[in-house]
Amino acid sequence: MTTQPLSNPFALADPAVLKGLLRRHGFTWKKRLGQNFLIDARVLARLIDAAELRPDDGVFEVGPGAGVVTRLAATRARRVVAVEKDACLRPVLAEVLAGLPHVEVVFADVLKLRLPDVWGRFHDCAGVKVIANLPYYVTTPILFHLLEAGVRMDSIVVMVQREVAQRLAAAPGSKDYGALSVAVQYRCSVERVLQVRAGAFLPPPEVDSAVVRLRVRGEPPVAVRDEQMFFRVVRAAFATRRKTLANALTGGLEWSKELCAAVLARAGVDGGRRGETLSLQEFAAVADAWAALTAT
Ligand code: SAM
Repeated sequence: MTTQPLSNPFALADPAVLKGLLRRHGFTWKKRLGQNFLIDARVLARLIDAAELRPDDGVFEVGPGAGVVTRLAATRARRVVAVEKDACLRPVLAEVLAGLPHVEVVFADVLKLRLPDVWGRFHDCAGVKVIANLPYYVTTPILFHLLEAGVRMDSIVVMVQREVAQRLAAAPGSKDYGALSVAVQYRCSVERVLQVRAGAFLPPPEVDSAVVRLRVRGEPPVAVRDEQMFFRVVRAAFATRRKTLANALTGGLEWSKELCAAVLARAGVDGGRRGETLSLQEFAAVADAWAALTAT
């Protein structure tokens, strides 16, 4: 049976059209891959608008699914590269993205992909923006994979669980503030764009969702002498939330009590505080004090 190419990129937001397309290609949903496809045209429009695409931009998409976001991005960007783990979506994406030579789908696990190799495709693009309705079972590893890849990227606009959006944007002292908040806020400014109800997806996930925009910073908001130690301090401070900072650091980093006391005194941070009350500046001060005291 021949099918007409979709003339309206929002057509797949109609559940009947999406189901028909998937059925035609014998697709079966895989819950373990976080396959919750967007079927709300208003949410799709807000997601795409939040990416602020310009005609000379490149777009990297994680998890195109049936290609609805991909199609929309293709109307606004110079190049789109989408990475999909589920090879069963190959015929679906071939149909939805037919006649779009500036769109490429790579069938792979994004976590196993060397992003600098992929980024070569964006050589003629002024900016590179990441867009994704993320598979929720791997949200955090994917965010770290993107941020630690050492590739140029202006922004990351993602659909995540609402609880993850709260953690990304959390301020020191709040219950949602954790190692993820610090790591992401060190590299990006975080804006919550939209809350999304479960009914916006097919099938609906068990949790509420939110769109967040991470604008990747040119420079971190705090100067850090030893980035590796900065992140080690952050991880140790949050590893045991009920411990004081001094106990968390002596236990987690195997610092002697004397070294820990000297580091915290030099940083001007009270060791009796809990790790989750420290700002980025204070974590940086602790890491810098360690670097200064242990420099030979
Ligand atoms: N973008 C589509 C949409 O909005 O309708 C689908 C989004 S769905 C939430 C997540 C997609 O990510 C699925 O198509 C799933 O197969 C894919 N996926 C899951 N794990 C992945 C991984 N490790 N690498 C690449 N894609 C993955």
